[in-house]
Amino acid sequence: MLDLTYEAPKPKIISGAKQDWELVIGLEVHAQVSTNAKLFSGASTQFGAEPNSNVAFVDAGMPGMLPVINEECVAQAVRTGLGLKADINLYSAFDRKNYFYPDLPQGYQISQLYHPIVGEGEVFVDMGPGVARVVRIERIHLEQDAGKSIHDMDPHMSFVDLNRTGVALMEIVSRPDIRGPEEAAAYVVKLRQIMRYLGTCDGNMQNGNLRADVNVSICEPGAYEKYMETQDFSHLGTRCEIKNMNSMRFIQQAIEHEARRQIAIVEGGGKVDQETRLYDPDKGETRSMRSKEEAHDYRYFPCPDLLPLEIEQDWVDDIAASLPELPDAKRERFMGDFGLSAYDASVLTSEVANAAYFEKVAEGRDGKLAANWVINELFGRLKKEDHDITESPVSPNQLGGIIDLISKGDISGKIAKDLFEIVYTEGGDPAQIVAARGMKQVTDTGAIEAAVDKIIAENPAQVEKAKENPKLAGWFVGQVMKATGGKANPKTVNEIVSKKLAG
Ligand code: ADP
Ligand code: MG
Repeated sequence: MLDLTYEAPKPKIISGAKQDWELVIGLEVHAQVSTNAKLFSGASTQFGAEPNSNVAFVDAGMPGMLPVINEECVAQAVRTGLGLKADINLYSAFDRKNYFYPDLPQGYQISQLYHPIVGEGEVFVDMGPGVARVVRIERIHLEQDAGKSIHDMDPHMSFVDLNRTGVALMEIVSRPDIRGPEEAAAYVVKLRQIMRYLGTCDGNMQNGNLRADVNVSICEPGAYEKYMETQDFSHLGTRCEIKNMNSMRFIQQAIEHEARRQIAIVEGGGKVDQETRLYDPDKGETRSMRSKEEAHDYRYFPCPDLLPLEIEQDWVDDIAASLPELPDAKRERFMGDFGLSAYDASVLTSEVANAAYFEKVAEGRDGKLAANWVINELFGRLKKEDHDITESPVSPNQLGGIIDLISKGDISGKIAKDLFEIVYTEGGDPAQIVAARGMKQVTDTGAIEAAVDKIIAENPAQVEKAKENPKLAGWFVGQVMKATGGKANPKTVNEIVSKKLAG
């Protein structure tokens, strides 16, 4: 087991006109399962396909069509549950959630209300080195996505695209353990990271593959602790749910606005109504969509077309045994094995591809030096061109080669940066480039001594000043580096300059 000694972050306090308030937030995250086919049909889940081209009869709600569960979707939900250290329910069942939507031809969504496939788990939400909030997961259930209505293509007509209808979603429901807007975003970031490691959801928020309903309430300082002791929700304020958020920035803004709205109501002597709201980023406000009184009665009932889902512990164990190393474990290992700071280890493990790249570079080399080069030079350079690590023109071998040349003292750090740029833009073997272009560092003390003597001879006034103020020796070092085209070994130059100026 990991030895995770985290400190809990402080909850965010918002000052109203009359007093301070704390926030309580719970998220329902909808994550599209990464699979080739839909939850109950063989239709493709490919994004961006011709409208209505990926629609099986069952997705279109044709009479008499029967759903057949896709085993891979179940495996993905189990994988996600295991990745969130959650209980896997060997028995789960599907229910119909009835409502009318033009893009939901069945007239109901198949979901799991009473018996979800995944039970309680937990996530460590990173809020800085050594600081994390533990957010409890209440459940994860599998359900179908709806299609898409398009209202802005024609002034008189709306269109429906059923390609997304029936695609598998995991709804990940948290406990109300999130205590501020930044934590809410960090929670989504962490879920996304874990699912990308697991390969269970690609986390593409722009395509709507990851979206969140955000529940927000306010309470007086101290009330949350009472809730935690008793798990009695009456200690908490009335919550509002902000629907369908698909950007980390908007999640934070919406929470902030919603909290202030609730504070103004309560401080004005009113009561918060439990309702569903929408966030309008242009206006910077949330507005009511429907109140609890008008909430749908979904008339849930067990789906008569599907048998309860019974899975075997052996199958779950096989999946557990094949899980990849997850971000927290990888970060701790990088800190231990390579002596990295928590910050560097976090940056390198943010994406599994970044971590794999770094490990290849660091293998058999100085871990900190490797981390520096990967984070500062490589990531910095890739970012300039909006590339990710999979598009890097520099391979781990090439970067490792550059680092070896530095470690051997063949090139200085400054020359290494020039070399990196050459390898990045032109490719090639770093050692061969250094040899072919005469970039090797001069450690030959004779040559350096000659250069130092020349500078000293040419600048008698500077020499006098430097004798009184040893700090001015740096000027001579700079001149020698310049004269040698940056190739002189700076350490050797320093030593020789000090010796000569003292003599
Ligand atoms: P529903 O089924 O009506 O959506 P749930 O009990 O499933 O209600 O809760 C939905 C989400 O709201 C969960 O993430 C939960 O943690 C969160 N939540 C519940 N009570 C509060 C509260 N007082 N403040 C903030 N979030 C809350
Ligand atoms: Mg809900």
